[in-house]
Amino acid sequence: MNGRPLPPSRDLRLVHVDARERQSVVSLRGASGPSFGGKELAICAGPCAVESYEQIVATAAAVAGAGANVLRGGAYKPRTSPYSFQGLGRDGLAMMREAADLYGLAVVTEVLDPRDAAIVAESADMLQIGARNMQNTALLRAVGETGKPVLLKRGLAATVDEWLLAAEYIALTGNEQIVLCERGIRSFDPSTRNLLDLSVVPLLARRTHLPAIVDPSHGTGIAALVAPMGLAAVAAGAAGIMVEVHPDPASAVSDGMQSLTFAEFESFMESMPAVAAAVGRSLPKRFAGATLNAPPPS
Ligand code: PEP
Ligand code: MN
Repeated sequence: MNGRPLPPSRDLRLVHVDARERQSVVSLRGASGPSFGGKELAICAGPCAVESYEQIVATAAAVAGAGANVLRGGAYKPRTSPYSFQGLGRDGLAMMREAADLYGLAVVTEVLDPRDAAIVAESADMLQIGARNMQNTALLRAVGETGKPVLLKRGLAATVDEWLLAAEYIALTGNEQIVLCERGIRSFDPSTRNLLDLSVVPLLARRTHLPAIVDPSHGTGIAALVAPMGLAAVAAGAAGIMVEVHPDPASAVSDGMQSLTFAEFESFMESMPAVAAAVGRSLPKRFAGATLNAPPPS
């Protein structure tokens, strides 16, 4: 070690900023659906885990009403303890799809096992690779091969180069619909769950043509810090945000501490347009073809 930073990897062939003439835009559900990297932000919101039909429908109604365009939620959960709730699996996928369709939302959900990639791709619009699996190369190939857009979260202690090389694995399958998601990295300081690295947002724009979003929920682990860091992420140039929202955070089976109530999410979204406008962006409009099939609960 001579203390100098490693030179950027020469193996970033497909995802390198110079590999494309302009920054990529990744769209879900066709060109009129939610997009990552365009003028409109992608607002992904929903519970950490799908817990019940009632929970996911109520959350879909609330986040759609507040301005989100993508419903997030885990049906397969990567829990630290094998004794913790592992997710509702296929039932959870079906519940999330139905809830999203009721309110005109796209769906992003995590895939944990290469054997589930095709099943998840049948019902979701975007497949999430969680932080713990960022370097699971078999899983990266499997999600890439589904042809569906992929949300690639940054590993718990991954360098930017390692993260971009993971994206390169997906791109090598012929699927370049990849969005990066900064969700905080391990640090020495337990004051926050992770250390949210917002400097990667403008850094990534210089290294890759892929769009990047920020998850201030896992990035901080503290509900009160989610809105300020979400606004800061947009100010730094993020193409969108991913936020955990729950009808009753205190009773959430996972990540309640960092989950926003419906009212907190709504007031966060109310403060977003001014910050977005300062960097030439706007909140998403409801996408064409999306119909609100049911009124949000009062
Ligand atoms: C999640 O999004 O629910 C999740 C488990 O996130 P991460 O992989 O970033 O920990
Ligand atoms: Mn979570």
